[in-house]
Amino acid sequence: MGTGSSRGTPEIGCDCQVCKSEDPRDFRNRSSGVIYAGGKTILVDVPPDLRYTCLREGIRDIDGVIVTHHHYDHCGGFDDLRIPSYQAGGKMPIICLESTFTEMKKRYGYLFEVDPPLFQAEIVGRTKEHIHLLGVEMTGMIYQHAGIDVLGFRIGDFAYIIDIKLYSESIFEILEGVKTLVISAIGEDDNHPVHLSVKQAIEFSKRVKAKRTYLSHLSHRLGHETTSQKLPDGVFCAYDGLRLEFEY
Ligand SMILES: [Zn+2]
Ligand SMILES: [Zn+2]
Repeated sequence: MGTGSSRGTPEIGCDCQVCKSEDPRDFRNRSSGVIYAGGKTILVDVPPDLRYTCLREGIRDIDGVIVTHHHYDHCGGFDDLRIPSYQAGGKMPIICLESTFTEMKKRYGYLFEVDPPLFQAEIVGRTKEHIHLLGVEMTGMIYQHAGIDVLGFRIGDFAYIIDIKLYSESIFEILEGVKTLVISAIGEDDNHPVHLSVKQAIEFSKRVKAKRTYLSHLSHRLGHETTSQKLPDGVFCAYDGLRLEFEY
């Protein structure tokens, strides 16, 4: 639903070409997605733009949520989940790492402490990779970004890896056979302290041997059209509203 960096594109007060672009694909909300599988609607991350993106995409119901990590651009819209949780009868499952839950409780304790409960955290362990969410099976993987653990996942032949900088070799075992990969790439700086560059994300995708790779979490330094022209076959810039099909 959203494919922008933590600042979104356009950035507040920026007059660069991308921020002033009239190409709708250069208008990016903060990163999030929705998975439709097994008759369920699963939200991936809860950005501050959640309300707007749900209204735009016509999303009325959410059955469960995966929160990749606790940074504001991935969970700043958490309060807006009250409505879909009420509609679903409460106890909406929230899949996340223990460290993510600890931070979310500090910020949104009032949402976890209500009676009857609105949300129910389901913690993904460091060694337990299998995620069962509402009858939908996925495989989780943990990598690092900005000094914290981040949760990525694979469902069927699709994988979503956002906000990645450091990872172990074993991640490629989990990703074997993935055909469609979404991975974050912030810009062209290979020395970016907390994110992969476009080049590094492409190298990662080559190792996965994904047929289609979509770069997401894009900053305003990457215009959709100009960046797309430079990408190799099978690698694309994602854009808000993009829909992808996968085998599950
Ligand atoms: Zn982010
Ligand atoms: Zn800009």
